Amino acid sequence: MESCSKSARESSSPFDSLLFDLDDTLYSSKTGIGESLKKNIDDFLVERCGFPLDKASSLRVELFKKYGSSLAGLRALGYDVDADDYHSVVHGRLPYHLIKPDPQLRNLLRSTAQRKIIFTNSDRTHAMRALKRLGVEDCFDQIVCFETMNPNLSEAARPDEFPVVLKPSPEAMQIALRETRVDPRRTLFLDDNVRNIAAGKAVGLRTALVGKTVKTKEADYAMDTVNNLPKVVPEVWVNPTDGAGSDQIINTARNNEIDSILTPVGA
Ligand SMILES: [Mg+2]
Repeated sequence: MESCSKSARESSSPFDSLLFDLDDTLYSSKTGIGESLKKNIDDFLVERCGFPLDKASSLRVELFKKYGSSLAGLRALGYDVDADDYHSVVHGRLPYHLIKPDPQLRNLLRSTAQRKIIFTNSDRTHAMRALKRLGVEDCFDQIVCFETMNPNLSEAARPDEFPVVLKPSPEAMQIALRETRVDPRRTLFLDDNVRNIAAGKAVGLRTALVGKTVKTKEADYAMDTVNNLPKVVPEVWVNPTDGAGSDQIINTARNNEIDSILTPVGA
């Protein structure tokens, strides 16, 4: 994929790369997509696995808590669930029209010089559809997704032969670092899930919790929405040690640039 970064890596920022979760990070958890997702998982448990409807929701919660996802739990318990079939129901039936184009996010991403990478537990088809709906599908250099973390699942002789790998497992974090070849100390990892943030911190990434205003222990930053990135982490654009002392004009210009990113498009 070709990034729509503003320019070459000429910034003096402490970050070389930005690693973004997708769902509930690049778009709000209030879209209603999350509710539809839960319903679709319940439908899958009923339609494809034969569980009674009144047990589906509690089973979904139980599988998520114990295994990280219903797909991971079902396969671990020996259900021969095909990942593509699962995603075709759980993601394929989502009301994607609820994800609206976000020109402010596009503007923000385009203004950064860093490598930008998506790191999501979702499948690639869902990632591409959601990014297209947001209008930012050309703003990323790479996507690390379900298929990247689980390349051999379809070749398993038994459903539990290869456990499903997802964030926040240490394996998932190692796969992301290996596939992207980022330097974790110079990479900002943004995610809405506190356990994912903790897993990111454990492998040396700089971390930003999205969708919350209060930091957790492992979060270096917290922001209500990803569109507040310039305000919360101006170092993405500005080296904090630059201009200390005399270079007021450059600093003012940079602050103006950040202000323009923060201003909603059309405002
Ligand atoms: Mg998320």
